[in-house]
Amino acid sequence: MTDEDKKSGSNVAPLRAPRPCPECGRPSHREHYPFCSDRCRNVDLNRWLSGSYAIPVADDEAKADDDDR
Ligand SMILES: [Zn+2]
Repeated sequence: MTDEDKKSGSNVAPLRAPRPCPECGRPSHREHYPFCSDRCRNVDLNRWLSGSYAIPVADDEAKADDDDR
């Protein structure tokens, strides 16, 4: 007589929701997740290397002072 049990049992979410490829928008492939293919993954990687992405670089090397000891 537990209605709560029935409710939670029918509310199971899918393991992995299909996500569109960030490059071309097609359904992503499990092997190339989150992209649909190796090509799209390379395209994204090239964009990263060419600096199209604006990411704050945390490159502060604050160990120069420590080296003096
Ligand atoms: Zn793609």
